[in-house]
Amino acid sequence: MTAGDWPSGTMRALPLDGPGHVIRTRLPIPDHEPGTVLVRPAYVGLCGTDLELFHGTAAYLNDGRTAYPHVFGHEWWGEVVAGDGGFTPGDAVVGHTMIPCGRCPDCQRGRRSVCRNLVETGLYGQQGAAADFIRLPAHALTRLPEGTEAPWAVLVEPAVTVVESLERTGCGPFDRVAVLGTGSIGLLTVQLARHYGAEVEAIGVDPAGLELATHFGATAAYRPEDAPGRAYSLVVEASGASSAFRRSLDLVEPGGRIAVVGVATDPLDGLVPGRFVLSGFDVYGIRHGLDHYGRTVELFATGVLDGAALVAAVVPAADVEQAFKLLECGRTGRPKVILEMGG
Ligand SMILES: [Zn+2]
Ligand SMILES: [Zn+2]
Repeated sequence: MTAGDWPSGTMRALPLDGPGHVIRTRLPIPDHEPGTVLVRPAYVGLCGTDLELFHGTAAYLNDGRTAYPHVFGHEWWGEVVAGDGGFTPGDAVVGHTMIPCGRCPDCQRGRRSVCRNLVETGLYGQQGAAADFIRLPAHALTRLPEGTEAPWAVLVEPAVTVVESLERTGCGPFDRVAVLGTGSIGLLTVQLARHYGAEVEAIGVDPAGLELATHFGATAAYRPEDAPGRAYSLVVEASGASSAFRRSLDLVEPGGRIAVVGVATDPLDGLVPGRFVLSGFDVYGIRHGLDHYGRTVELFATGVLDGAALVAAVVPAADVEQAFKLLECGRTGRPKVILEMGG
């Protein structure tokens, strides 16, 4: 039994067709499969990963996990149209990026983020949300509060990773936290670490971003070279720059923790392995927070996390090129560019 009428025919979609090139086309509406839900995306957030897909530099393209034409869109929310899993047409839902198989040995051990059959929405193996419809397994959807309308609800996706980084590192009131980077992840980390009672300082290169971090409760804001060394019990690297990872090693106090969330790909010369031993700090690679969607929705619903203040622009899907241009030219301050689907 499926709830709602599952449409057939074709739908509008916005695949990337080559570096720097989005096309408007029609694709078949995905058929109903048992256990799946068809959702109409309302808003799609764009991040650095989308820009890499747009530029043709994304790892997923280079290692063959995906190819053009590629329907992007991994940060999004929408309304249920039809399907299984106890959803009702009209329910507002956020879609998960990582979709584990649930059957492989890693899934069975509870290590779902390293599932060996993993697909990731809008990245590889699963069509993204830049289309009229997206079909996902029911277990890869989390309900949003009734009446959700806000474009910023797309921020649940990056925020689950923030929850994972502070949970895994055990962030608490005794911590002095340095957050490197003032993009969406960095600014959400400032907010959540403050909620956990930690003292938080922001480190970044964008003065407007640092100002926002202060607005969210950071008690100091520094350019990377000005931040005090060996002063932080927890450092969250959220900038994605290799130089910032290196800086993290100088900022953390002996015995502290470093959570690496940004994906820096430039190799680093001159790393001395013995420093990790002698300084006794822990380095956590934070892949994603796929187990935290429900909790993260609550954090926004209860006002712990402020999404509205992170939105730089909401751009109609018809002007998708403009959205990528905004992403490309580097915003200052508010980080999130969002596409408005539909219409
Ligand atoms: Zn993203
Ligand atoms: Zn698996």
